[in-house]
Amino acid sequence: MSKEVLKFDAEIEKIFQLMIHSIYENKEIFLRELISNASDACDKLRYQAVTKPDILGKDKEFKITIKADKEAKTLTITDNGIGMSRADLIKNLGTVARSGTQRFAQQITGDDAKDSNLIGQFGVGFYSSFMVAEKVKVISCAAGGKKAHIWESAGTGKFTIDEAKEKYPRGTTVILHLRDEEAEYLDEYRLRHVIETYSNHVAFTIALIKEDGTEDIVNKGKAIWARSKSDISEDEYKEFYRSVSFMGQDEPFMTLHNKAEGVIEYTNLLYIPSSQPFDLFHPDRSTRVKLYVKRVFIADEGIDLIPSYLRFLRGVVDSEDLPLNISRETVQNNLVVQKIKASITNRVIKELKTKMTKDLDGYMKFWENFGSVVKEGLCDGYEPRDEIIEICRFRTTKSGDKTITLKEYKDNMKEGQNAIFFITGDDVESAMASPQLEGFKKKDYEVVLLTDSVDEFWVNVLHEYQGIELKSVTRADSEDSLEEKDSAKAQDEDGEKKEDVKSVNIGEHNSVELVSFIKDNLGDRVKDVRTTHRLTDSPVCLVAAEGAMDIRMERFMVDNKQMAQANAKVFEINPEHPIIVKLANELAENKNIKTLSDTIHLLFAQANIIEGEPVKDIAGFNKRMNELMQKALAA
Ligand code: ADP
Ligand code: MG
Repeated sequence: MSKEVLKFDAEIEKIFQLMIHSIYENKEIFLRELISNASDACDKLRYQAVTKPDILGKDKEFKITIKADKEAKTLTITDNGIGMSRADLIKNLGTVARSGTQRFAQQITGDDAKDSNLIGQFGVGFYSSFMVAEKVKVISCAAGGKKAHIWESAGTGKFTIDEAKEKYPRGTTVILHLRDEEAEYLDEYRLRHVIETYSNHVAFTIALIKEDGTEDIVNKGKAIWARSKSDISEDEYKEFYRSVSFMGQDEPFMTLHNKAEGVIEYTNLLYIPSSQPFDLFHPDRSTRVKLYVKRVFIADEGIDLIPSYLRFLRGVVDSEDLPLNISRETVQNNLVVQKIKASITNRVIKELKTKMTKDLDGYMKFWENFGSVVKEGLCDGYEPRDEIIEICRFRTTKSGDKTITLKEYKDNMKEGQNAIFFITGDDVESAMASPQLEGFKKKDYEVVLLTDSVDEFWVNVLHEYQGIELKSVTRADSEDSLEEKDSAKAQDEDGEKKEDVKSVNIGEHNSVELVSFIKDNLGDRVKDVRTTHRLTDSPVCLVAAEGAMDIRMERFMVDNKQMAQANAKVFEINPEHPIIVKLANELAENKNIKTLSDTIHLLFAQANIIEGEPVKDIAGFNKRMNELMQKALAA
């Protein structure tokens, strides 16, 4: 096939424009990206050679070379890795086959300052070479392939692809024609410095060809995780973090470098980031830790090595106990992998617990970033939930700006308190404003404030902590916990248990009348109507019926179309509230029935609003409200 002129994907074109006009200061990272690609290419071929040793031919030593030519103003990066065929070149360097590229392109805003910040965050791989080069030529010969192909582009919307006339050895050569103002990257010392800064950890030899033609080996050429801790500098750890994390200039929050010896042997060099990766809440929830076997890269995607609730972890795990020819598919059900996973999980949780105990302020930075992810682990019965819950921290009605663990909550429980109470809400403020809390505050019971959407799930899965029930204050049955003492008292005084101690303020008879009047008025919009002890200041509230889903959980299901519509709630009234007392009295005298009915509708609307539920009949609501205001103003 002869020369073809092809167009870049529109998305890639955006990236090109950004690179060519980049005001990003840290342009030198282009070299890190190209070396990283060369290293990946060597990794890939080494993996293939495990099952097909012949593929290496005579060229068995993997190597990356870098050569500057001052006269031609070119910088050339060569590897003897897996190489690319014609089709590979078109796909890999011309389309958005990679989801990372696509996501990057989607984030581009057109605002130079913002976008150059993105370059730092994403890395952006191969295309970063256009920050320094006006023309890029890639010559590649795939391992096992016969012919080399040349990809060439000046970044103007199109690239060409052609068969190479000459013969090239296996691997890839990237030739950058540097812009005049980027001549610094032709300088040996400058190059050496950049390579040492960013690529020291690369597990293959990186050679710089000097002007006199001799070679200089720049890096250590040994996988960083296989080296001993004492031999690795802070900067090297950081740079490796940046190369495996795609987290730009983020600093590692925690570095876990261990060698496990015993039943299973593996080395882990894992990092917890200091900020949230951009794809933390991407629906696929995939993990990014790379699996190596005896220093050979196996896979970093689609392997079950790290539980998804620890998906913020970056880094590598290298095992001595797995067969080298393990495929990405067989990793899934491999028993050793499962054991490594469990062992790493425990190690990470243990380290986090230690951090929490020793440096709570520091730990809180982690918790703010990743707490809602960690709590996902509480939903999975196969995970060490007893351990996970110990590193979870919560705001409560009593904790102020601080947070506590459920253990601390348990230690502070009041005499007679039979459950751990919680309320869910969009944020702490709105949760704190919930009328359902009133009775609990009066009793001086602490209530945990849960504001992450994952909270709706784990509380429903976990049910209890150390044998103590977790109870939502927005459920009908949680009121029993408030009643207990009162009814016990009533029992003492009268010798028998009173049926309904709540209706004392409005009288037994009036209470029954009012409840049935409300039921008639609201019809099937309510599941039930009843008096409550839950409230002190508010006249009414809504709660979920016994056995029904929590209110916010239900809304979540409806929002996500997993439920057609919300169920009717239990409407609770506060028999001590002046409005309710007045309603009951007027009803007993059969007075102002229309106003009573309007008031009930308005109270019901109010209860819905507090829950963040929409008021269904807005026109009716406004009409009633206006009438009431008119009356109030007239009085
Ligand atoms: P990434 O490395 O994150 O996949 P890049 O933009 O750096 O993204 O590279 C795009 C793709 O081009 C790579 O995934 C790889 O398939 C291919 N590629 C780039 N450089 C090389 C190389 N030196 N050898 C073989 N393939 C390469
Ligand atoms: Mg890359």
